[in-house]
Amino acid sequence: MAVSSFKFALIDSATGHQILHGLAEKLGDDDASITIKRENEKNRLELGKNNQHVDAIKVLVSTLQELGLDNNIGAIGHRVVHGGEMFTQSAVIDDDVITAIEAVSALAPLHNPANLIGIKAAQLAFPGIPQVAVFDTAFHQTMPEKAYMYAIDKDHYKEKGIRRYGFHGTSHFFVAQKAAEWLNKSFETTSVITVHLGNGCSVCAISDGKSVDTSMGMTPLEGLMMGTRSGDIDPGVIMYLMKRYKYDANQIDDFLNKQSGMLGLSQLSNDCRTLEDALNDADNEKRLAAQLTLEVYSYRVAKYIAGYTCALTHLDAVVFTGGIGENSNYIRDIVVKHLGLLGLTIDDCKNQQARFGQAGAINDPTSRTPVLVIPTNEEWVIAQDAAKLTKGVK
Ligand code: ADP
Repeated sequence: MAVSSFKFALIDSATGHQILHGLAEKLGDDDASITIKRENEKNRLELGKNNQHVDAIKVLVSTLQELGLDNNIGAIGHRVVHGGEMFTQSAVIDDDVITAIEAVSALAPLHNPANLIGIKAAQLAFPGIPQVAVFDTAFHQTMPEKAYMYAIDKDHYKEKGIRRYGFHGTSHFFVAQKAAEWLNKSFETTSVITVHLGNGCSVCAISDGKSVDTSMGMTPLEGLMMGTRSGDIDPGVIMYLMKRYKYDANQIDDFLNKQSGMLGLSQLSNDCRTLEDALNDADNEKRLAAQLTLEVYSYRVAKYIAGYTCALTHLDAVVFTGGIGENSNYIRDIVVKHLGLLGLTIDDCKNQQARFGQAGAINDPTSRTPVLVIPTNEEWVIAQDAAKLTKGVK
């Protein structure tokens, strides 16, 4: 079995409070472990040799039992990466849903099979507790054809499902809803551009509460530059590498998904914080590499934001979220300064203060449109959907 990991959280779906959370990592490897955090306590347990997903879940179940929390679980929500065109919203998991997730696995061969392993292990460990699949792609199923079609032979769409799907749907939905609350508007009349900048990065145009365009495509590789992913690149580069340098499909995959982005361009790190630190490095070469990387990164974010104004009839706010969007005043500053022609202006002081989970506006009062920083909470969306869909199911 390939080495994998999963995150988990026990959440009060009404408030979003995380009662317990943690991470099982290196599953399938000899040094696999599970870390469970609760309030100020943190316990890490080795899972031993020949471990599987289900072993990590068994540890989790017994911990919940010891803490007397097992009776509190009303439903289990699973994040599933690809729902293809079949899932426009979350779904209570039954045999048909599992078959449908298997059917779209070809579009996400690394993620969907791993998600299914998690689902099956959880079904074994929590018999009788309803389970719900929440898809990264579902929120974007409202995109119009003009946004989701690639300009390629249409049979490839009809026969092979090649089209743009988009990801990070739960995050874009969550922060857009919070933005509507902040703006004191109903979600159904709110139009925003949400910018999720984490290890993976994407931008979404939301018109009257509906996703109408997003930067990731058939896979999460399209669009913005990311920690280790290239984002948009001339497909001609791929042909060139294959023909001239004999790269095979796996090498191309590794090159564009794991060796590119911030890591590839800087040759320093995939981590934005490390690159920001390197801006002050005594080594001139490192400083310049970090500066160029962060400039390319921010310029591309700004281009997508400007581009997505085409998808909207009005713009109520631009919203930053994700580890970088929530914390890096450096990146936000460069991005917003590229958007002067759209009338966006930033307040330096507010921008510097908006970090570490604080929500708020960072624009100057003269800005034509509010610029907001809103921490994302994908786990809460999953918990809310799981609770909503399973009311009365058990
Ligand atoms: P994931 O997409 O895996 O959930 P996150 O949303 O946590 O990842 O984002 C991780 C990114 O956020 C990393 O590049 C990290 O350097 C960046 N980040 C976190 N805190 C800061 C900070 N204070 N300043 C700049 N970047 C930060």
